[in-house]
Amino acid sequence: MTTSTAVHSDAAPVSTAAGDWPGRWARLTPVLRRPGPFAHPQFTPGDETVDFLMKQCKVLVVGAGGLGCEILKNLALSGFRDLHVIDMDTIDVSNLNRQFLFRPADVGKSKAEVAAAFIMRRVPGCVVTPYFGKIQDKDYDYYQQFNVIICGLDSVEARRWMNATVIGMFDSDSPETLKPLVDGGTEGFQGQARVILPTMTSCYECSLDMLTRPTTYPVCTIANTPRLPEHCIEWASVLEWPRVFGDDKIDTDNPAHLQWLFETASNRAEQFNISGVTYSLTQGVVKNIIPAIASTNAIIAAACCNEVFKLATSSASLLNNYMMFTGTDGIYTHTFEHEARSDCPVCGQARLKMSVNAMWTLEDWIDRLIESPETQLKRPSLRTGSGSLYMQAPRALEQATRPNLQRTLGELLSSGEAVTVTDATLPISLEITVTFVETSEKTE
Ligand SMILES: [Zn+2]
Repeated sequence: MTTSTAVHSDAAPVSTAAGDWPGRWARLTPVLRRPGPFAHPQFTPGDETVDFLMKQCKVLVVGAGGLGCEILKNLALSGFRDLHVIDMDTIDVSNLNRQFLFRPADVGKSKAEVAAAFIMRRVPGCVVTPYFGKIQDKDYDYYQQFNVIICGLDSVEARRWMNATVIGMFDSDSPETLKPLVDGGTEGFQGQARVILPTMTSCYECSLDMLTRPTTYPVCTIANTPRLPEHCIEWASVLEWPRVFGDDKIDTDNPAHLQWLFETASNRAEQFNISGVTYSLTQGVVKNIIPAIASTNAIIAAACCNEVFKLATSSASLLNNYMMFTGTDGIYTHTFEHEARSDCPVCGQARLKMSVNAMWTLEDWIDRLIESPETQLKRPSLRTGSGSLYMQAPRALEQATRPNLQRTLGELLSSGEAVTVTDATLPISLEITVTFVETSEKTE
């Protein structure tokens, strides 16, 4: 047989009845049908848990790249059968060494679509729904349908957006709106996995200051006492290039420029008896490329998928809440509870206070929120603890709340009340406490 599904005997069509698990799913039995010494106290072993995992639990995988391929494979092989994947990228030939759901013939096609088709071919019974597009295309309604959201992204902006979305759509009056977010990230030999429970744990925005900055070397070392091949490459690009070529800038995509830098750095390295200058290292240093390591992706994806499995089954305690991995010097992991920042613009409890005139209409106030340098919103939606004031989306809710725009704040709110402001175009959600002030200012 030539199809890839014929590799294992358990690739035969699988019964959907959780009562009898043939083949592939048999390995879940020992974990989910009886409690173990390390099981979570709230764990109820048995078929109900299994049924939830295999028939009801809906998981969204954000990103179908290096981490995403690992995540999709892990979840499909763990018994999840309703997976969704969203990615705006197409497959590049340079992805093929580690993004193992893709083949040379797939270059140029949608990552989400090819990954989904591969998983469904290989793991019968698992349904993967792809979306080839941006995460920003989707609204709260879309994200609300999932039980867990797992991110395998390489962009800080996309993660901030997802984080703010998950926290923004949580309404403390409706516990079902709480969507756990499991986030994985890798950079070379380092990575991290974390569990974000909106308003209960710290969020991605809380830890923005932990992002590593690109490595830089002191100029005196580069100029006088090089010890590493990187020092020689930096010398060639930072000091020699401007001396020889003046104002002519380095084009890091131009092979002739890279060749010159490589040769110049090699000569320098020879003078100082340093080995290790190669063309690809030269390229890496000048373009500031951190190589993607397949095994780092595998480790981080595995840690994240464990958390999704625990969230879906309550079989064990969750990661609380941040696991760092580094494989640069030996193998090391450290898990700690990252603390939420009270002034975090996304999840912080420290509220913004704002003085308003009770005679303003809601529309007047929204216009001010858009213009105010303090808030700088684009399309704000507002709600209070008791309900929506004005929602930009979805359309039905917009229509339902539109009449409020002409009502005054005095009719809609009371002084001291808190208003939650969200904006679909920005990764923030603001909690604003309004205070009515007596003012002679007229409604504009
Ligand atoms: Zn936060």
